[in-house]
Parts: sequence; structure tokens; C-alpha cells
Amino acid sequence: MVLAELGGSISRALKRMSDATVVDDKALADCLNEITRALLQADVRFAAVRDLQNNIRRLVNLEALAAGTNKRKIIQQAVFCELCSMLDPGKPSFVPAKGKPSVVMFVGLQGSGKTTTCTKYAYHHRRKGFNPALVCADTFRAGAFDQLKQNATKARIPFYGSYNESDPVKIAVEGVDRFRKENYDLIIVDTSGRHKQEAALFEEMRQVSEATKPDLVIFVMDGSIGQAAFDQAQAFKQSASVGAVIVTKMDGHAKGGGALSAVAATKSPVIFIGTGEHIDEFEVFDVKPFVNRLLGMGDLSGLVNKIKDVMPADQQPELVQKLTAGTFTLRLLYEMFQNLQNMGPLGQLFSMFPGFGGGLITKGKEKEGQAKIKRYMTIMDSMTDAELDSTNPKLMNESRIIRIARGSGRLVKDVTEMLEEYKRIAKMWSKLKLNNKNVRDHQIIN
Ligand code: GDP
Repeated sequence: MVLAELGGSISRALKRMSDATVVDDKALADCLNEITRALLQADVRFAAVRDLQNNIRRLVNLEALAAGTNKRKIIQQAVFCELCSMLDPGKPSFVPAKGKPSVVMFVGLQGSGKTTTCTKYAYHHRRKGFNPALVCADTFRAGAFDQLKQNATKARIPFYGSYNESDPVKIAVEGVDRFRKENYDLIIVDTSGRHKQEAALFEEMRQVSEATKPDLVIFVMDGSIGQAAFDQAQAFKQSASVGAVIVTKMDGHAKGGGALSAVAATKSPVIFIGTGEHIDEFEVFDVKPFVNRLLGMGDLSGLVNKIKDVMPADQQPELVQKLTAGTFTLRLLYEMFQNLQNMGPLGQLFSMFPGFGGGLITKGKEKEGQAKIKRYMTIMDSMTDAELDSTNPKLMNESRIIRIARGSGRLVKDVTEMLEEYKRIAKMWSKLKLNNKNVRDHQIIN
């Protein structure tokens, strides 16, 4: 994801500032210039970048800081806060409630991923205990109803639409009325998209909105459209009362700036991001964990939340408890490897963890990564329970290492390599926990 490049550039700028012998106005200016360049390259609008620069300068008045204050930390916190406030319009969006009927209308240009996202949104909420239904009010695009029907059928979500009726308002009203009567608590209306912003599209949107009185209008935007995002989002905001944004295709070449621009233009929060074509490739968007991840700080609370999403409830407590409370033992690593091996939803999740994503499983080299994991697991199979559960396996002595190598049919070098890898991942893990503590502290300050 190109977004990772933006995060990488900002992190590098912060690190250079941190490593500087003295943190003075020049070091701060260099750091801000680098961050500015990175944001502009990621298609963030100039006005937003200028505001961010000014705010950080205002927040970090180096001369006024008392001697002994940790300037590096203050600058890092200020950058973190400003990136968060760029993405946070300060007012939450409407949140549907279970058992209470809500109508949510989706708007966006053709090809933005609107129809796919409607089903993802319905599916996500059904897993949370809602009773969702879909209405296809897109009578403009040939095949739109078939597409929604196919997606909805696959996800086993009730749908409403028509092959003959050409009036989108009529279909929307009929569908919403019907599902209301049938006590569905989340009625999702997919509307027409057009190739470009045009008066007819906006007029149609306005009419559907007036007739169905949605509790929330969600603007769906393709994350890879770059600088065009601001104008597009603003045009939609002016014609429909957009209350939330979903940015799609964040798995592709999205530079991320589009998401920031859409927030600025609509003054509405991004609530989800689409990360693939599959119904599961849909993530709740939370500003602070996102910025944390962007800056490579990892995000333990996000990881735990996602585990809750993808794992059967009866298996969650044990793993969540181990991840959050326990120390990072070799046994925990073994269990993570098991999940990574079959690359189920949990494995995909772990592969996002910094130690795995950037180290063991690299994109394009998945086969080698998997072979390495298999080798490490064979070695761990020759360890004792005490060694696997030890909080300090570094203390393993040479004779044990030789025995483990012999027992697993591997070389001593393989065993030491595995232990080194474990140390590397355990170190990242402890940092991750530390960062989460910092974020919690930070939230308390705010
Ligand atoms: P609509 O015209 O706005 O309703 O767009 P569609 O829902 O038909 O989506 C257009 C294309 O984008 C389809 O091929 C989708 O599979 C694809 N798509 C939608 N969301 C995502 C996403 O998050 N990531 C990727 N890679 N593709 C997506």
C-alpha cells in the first residue's frame, strides 16, 4: 500500500529529528519540511498541509519550553495529534442501533465501489447482531441490480429491486417501506452513480433522500483518486447531507491523501475503509489506531478488536488474554505461526503485525516466509514445555541448543536464528504495548 510510504516518510522525518544532537528551530523546521513534502506527495491538499505546519509550530514553541522538557517527545506528540485532527472532523457520525430501524443511503460516483461496499456494510453489521436488508435504487447502470442481488445472495442478506421499474425514487420508497414493515433494523439504499459529477445524479440523489429520509448518508470514495477527492467530496456534500465517508480500494495504489481530503471537504468522519474486493476486506476506521499504524507504531488495541471480529467468541478470551496480559513467550509465537500457516482470517491479521509483515512474511516472498515458519515450528517442537513457556528463553544454554538442533534434525545455526527472530519479534511486541500505553496516556491528556 502506498499509504505505508507516507507513514514511512513521516516516521523517518521524526526519527531524524529525534537523532539530532540538539533539537532547535532548525531541526524542527527540517522535520516539518520533510513531513510537508511527504504529505503533498501523498496527494493531501496544500491548504491542509499548511494548516498542519502552522498548528505544529504554534503548539511547539521551543523557546518557551522549560529547560529539561523532552522536546523530541513534544514534537512527536504534536505531529501525532495534528495528523489525528486532520482525520477527525470532531463530530461523530450517526451510529445505527440494533432493534431500532435505521435507513442508510449510499452515494458516490460509478466505479467507486459503492455497490460492493453496501453489501460489506450490511455483512459487517449482521455479524454484530443487526438485521440488515439491501435496496437497489440504481436504475441507471445496466446490471446494477444483478450485481447487488448476487452479492446479497452470497452473503444471505435480503434485498429489494426491480428489472422493470425505472424510477429510482419509487423503488427506494417501496423497498424501505417493505423492510420497515418486516422489522429490519438496518435498511441500506444503494443509489445510482455516474461517471462524473453531473446535475442529474445530484437531483436524483436529492429526490431519493427526500423520499426515504435516511438517518445517515454515506459517501463512498475511491481512495486512489488523489487530488480530485476534495472537489468530488465537496460536490456530494453540497447535494446530499453526507454524514460519513467510506474510502475504498485502500489495498491498491491509494496514497491516502484522498481520505484526508474527503474528511476536510465533508466535515464527516471516515467510518470504514475497503481493503479488497472480498466481503471481509472491510475495516472499521478509527483515527488514533490508524495514525499509529501509519507511523509504524503498531496498534495492539486494533489487533485485539480485529481478533474479536474474526474469531469464534468461545476461543477469543484465551488468546486476547495472552496477547494483552502475558509476556511474549515462544509458545505464543508458535500459536501465531500456526495461524499464519493456514493464512485464515487470523493469519492475515497477524501478518499485519510489524514483526511478521515487515520481516517474516514479505509481499512477493510468501513461499520463503512460510518455509521459514515451518522450519521454526519444527525446532520449537523439540523444545520442552518449560522452554516454550519461559519468559526468558534467551537463557537457553549451548548444550540445550545443540540438543534441540539434533532433536529437530536442524543445524545449531538454525536454532540460534530462530531464537534471534523470536527476540526481534518479542522486542517489537514490547514496543507495541508501550505505544499503546502512550496513546492511552495521550487520550487522557486530551
Ligand atoms: P459502483 O459502481 O460504485 O457500485 O462500484 P462497484 O461496487 O461495482 O465496484 C467497482 C469495482 O471496484 C469492482 O470491481 C469491485 O470489486 C472493486 N472494489 C470495490 N471495493 C474495493 C476495494 O476496497 N478494493 C479493491 N481492490 N477493489 C474494490
